[in-house]
Amino acid sequence: MTTEALFNIDFTNAAYIVAAILFILGLKKLGSPATARNGNRLSALAMLVAVLATVIGNDIASWEWILGGVIVGSGIGAYSARKVQMTSMPQLVAIFNGFGGAASAVVAAAELIHLIDTKVDIAENVSITIMASVIIGSVTLTGSFIAFGKLQGFIPSRPLLIPIRNVINVALLIGLVASTVWLVTDPSLTPFLIAAGIALALGILVVVPIGGADMPVVIALLNSYSGIAGAATGFALGNTILIIAGSLVGASGLILTRIMTKAMNRSLVNVMLGGFGVEDSTGVGGGGDDDRPVRSIQAEDAATILGYAQSVIFVPGYGLAVAQAQHQVRELADLLKDRGISVRYAIHPVAGRMPGHMNVLLAEANVPYDELKDLDQINSEFQRTDVAVVIGANDVTNPAARTDKSSPIYGMPILNVDQAASVIVMKRSMSTGFAGVQNELFFLDRTMMLFGDAKDSVEKILAEVKDL
Ligand code: NDP
Repeated sequence: MTTEALFNIDFTNAAYIVAAILFILGLKKLGSPATARNGNRLSALAMLVAVLATVIGNDIASWEWILGGVIVGSGIGAYSARKVQMTSMPQLVAIFNGFGGAASAVVAAAELIHLIDTKVDIAENVSITIMASVIIGSVTLTGSFIAFGKLQGFIPSRPLLIPIRNVINVALLIGLVASTVWLVTDPSLTPFLIAAGIALALGILVVVPIGGADMPVVIALLNSYSGIAGAATGFALGNTILIIAGSLVGASGLILTRIMTKAMNRSLVNVMLGGFGVEDSTGVGGGGDDDRPVRSIQAEDAATILGYAQSVIFVPGYGLAVAQAQHQVRELADLLKDRGISVRYAIHPVAGRMPGHMNVLLAEANVPYDELKDLDQINSEFQRTDVAVVIGANDVTNPAARTDKSSPIYGMPILNVDQAASVIVMKRSMSTGFAGVQNELFFLDRTMMLFGDAKDSVEKILAEVKDL
């Protein structure tokens, strides 16, 4: 080996170690809203170091192609991240996730073509990891696009049950195993393409039957899959940093999946097998049409109730993101605190449309972190609270999750909002949340509905509280 080659290996490995450390530090910092921004920056820097080290250390491609890819990719990424509405961020994340899976599959395809072209003997472990990468990457691609469609409303969020879906899925799995054996024994592009096609179909078939309320688990799991696909590609290419980065994404995605399954009260085994959370019922127990009477109030009434309370818990949900009311809510909280009222925020792990959605929104409005309380911390507090203010939350407060076995959210731990002395619910209408089920909370005697856009309602309450 020449001195130059040795220097390249050492330089690349040293840079990979730096990148790996930066990835781990970045991930650690993502654990708290206070340090998350820096965590993101560190991880982006780690990726830059990893890409540069790979390109410089291996004489693998021409600079023009690499630079072109970086410029076009960064341009599209920066444009879409800047342009996208805060409420559409989960969809964007789903798409990026899908592209992550696709990238791994495409790189694995390129490696296979290269190996076949050079007519070398392909070791079994290499062909198996190439197949793992293409299969997991393809499932991630189509699965993520179905998740995107459900979040965007292109595809109904209720479970779409295909007859004999389990038989079809088992047949597809057998097809995947058979094509992998074929590729290992007789390497060619045909089994590879068959596996890719089957995996693309499987991604659709596994995610389509999953109901809206279970989507947080699916998104976390697909996130993990994209990492595992990356790690498999790393093994196929013998690239250390890809194995490390992929494993970090895969492992953290699995931890997130565990947190989400706990939040939804689903079993991880069912999640891993896919098609979980599906009952062969309509899955829309107590849907949107409901003409039972509810108690409706105006902003002045809400202001009086809040202004003379001793303790208030705000319960944000997806509607807070739609209304972009986080700054007004913080202002209202400040005003109430000035009046000596105790104020806290109850954060359900699946509130909103992506993990951590509410934390991100409230951090943007500089809500003090110590006022944000997890489900476990806050649930016993509702019964000692004067007013719970539900701002654009719905499914995460539905008491039917405790009692109604026919409900698609049955078993999901909810925020015990119904145990507060009074409940004010801000939303625009009586329409349902993401899971498509009516909320029993709205019909309780202690519940008051304040209809309207959450931002308008909070602004009106703010003005009234100032005058109290
Ligand atoms: P929901 O989707 O249950 O309800 C949101 C409510 O906000 C709606 O009922 C809507 O009622 C109201 N709303 C919408 N816009 C406004 C507005 N401008 N002003 C006031 N209210 C508004 O939200 P939750 O946060 O309670 O629950 C999250 C749901 O999303 C769960 O089912 C969860 O499983 C699912 N999910 C979560 C993901 C995650 O990772 N967190 C990912 C994917 C899905 P109206 O139209 O009457 O105003």
